[in-house]
Amino acid sequence: MSTVFYNDHAEILAAQYLSKTFEEVHSSWLHHLLPLLTKNTLSILDVGAGSGRDVHYLAEKTQGKETQIIAVEPAVVLAKMGQVLTRELPVRWIEDGLPQLQKVVGLAQQFDLILLSAVWMHLSPSERPLALVTLSRLLNSTGLLVISLRHGPSPDARVMHPVSADICIERPLILNADPALKTAISIDDLVEKFIELYWQHSLPFGANDGYFVLIQNSGKQSALINSLIELRHQGVNSLSQLKAHLSYPALLRKTRGTFKDGPLWRLQNLSRNEECFLYPHDKTKNYIELNPGIAFCFRRFHDLVVSLARTQWVQKIAEFPANQVIIGSKGNLSEFLFGSDRQTITYARPVLLDIQKGQCFYCQKSLKETGEVDHFIPWARYPNDLGHNFVLAHSSCNNQKRDHLAAQHHKDNWYEQNIIQHGQTLHSELSRYFVCESDRSEAITTWAYQLAGQNRSPLWLDKKTFVPFNALDNDLSNTAI
Ligand SMILES: [Zn+2]
Repeated sequence: MSTVFYNDHAEILAAQYLSKTFEEVHSSWLHHLLPLLTKNTLSILDVGAGSGRDVHYLAEKTQGKETQIIAVEPAVVLAKMGQVLTRELPVRWIEDGLPQLQKVVGLAQQFDLILLSAVWMHLSPSERPLALVTLSRLLNSTGLLVISLRHGPSPDARVMHPVSADICIERPLILNADPALKTAISIDDLVEKFIELYWQHSLPFGANDGYFVLIQNSGKQSALINSLIELRHQGVNSLSQLKAHLSYPALLRKTRGTFKDGPLWRLQNLSRNEECFLYPHDKTKNYIELNPGIAFCFRRFHDLVVSLARTQWVQKIAEFPANQVIIGSKGNLSEFLFGSDRQTITYARPVLLDIQKGQCFYCQKSLKETGEVDHFIPWARYPNDLGHNFVLAHSSCNNQKRDHLAAQHHKDNWYEQNIIQHGQTLHSELSRYFVCESDRSEAITTWAYQLAGQNRSPLWLDKKTFVPFNALDNDLSNTAI
């Protein structure tokens, strides 16, 4: 990330940071900090320490103890101000940055508390997985990592985070209707998403030698998985067939019961206490109402929330003894549960070849039978296969675009091709294999470009050329997310 802006505006930024106290900014997790502060020895890492407000507070609170506090700040002008603020306190300043934090990692030390305050959104989606790996290595086994989000999911309710985070970005701009960003999500929408998520998981893992579906619960198999297996045995092969099946309404009803009794409320039980940090527990309603700011966070930090939840999920499934024998001898569990199905993706190829008249979506040159199906909104940003999100491109164009969003005129072409001109064809040809809802794809594209606008991400034009994000080109970019 560039530090130019931070150095150029250091004084204004420092004044902004210092206008609020540590307690005001971090009130939501203070109760987790207090027990830490009672320890006699403590090591703290503040990544993106800015002008030092947080390390100043932490150093003062731990005076007289054996405390080590490291402040990391890549913007040297801000860091100098921080050094002045903390000159009489035991704070060590290091010029370093995520995702690798090379100098900090070089210290070969682990921390009891790592704080990332307003830092995460400055990392690109492709940097975030590496940043998570770095941070988890630096955190000791009982340590606390604070990012501008509350806790990750409790294992019991792991499904809820991707479900509600996905729903928040798959909807059109309903969130802007209410300035408080409060929003209601119907239980039926959540349940439908819940079924979509489990559909892939009801396939046998390692299909070649016997039928073994991974166990999803510590006791018996989950009832929903059993119902989905049964339907697969009856010849239901795709989500669209499932939704059209006679027994689908009954499946929805049954799953709604399980869902309302379990994951929906367990998600917010932290250490056996009910903490409604996402939505109030009101079991009389057929919807949940997200607390102010939650929908914003789910949209802004979607990739973080989903990757945390999926990592937990994969770990949990790998831990069940019944699964271990089969997982031990087979490939990548994470890829099976959440990966893009490369085999199935090839079904989109002939349809797109026809629609694009044999030309590459990006450079319009002939494909000569070498096209690759590309996720227009990259998989790294939205890890689900949607039929309307595919385009066909040269493997060279696809590789050069990688995890980036494409320039505005590509987005216009995508909209024209996959929504206006051929939306119906894609739906009729591909909904056997993928979720094909054009309004969901539109909402995802809008969301991804809004985020790119906020992060000032460069957009890929062609070959190795990138263009800056131009807010004027993007009609929706100035809408708050
Ligand atoms: Zn091309």
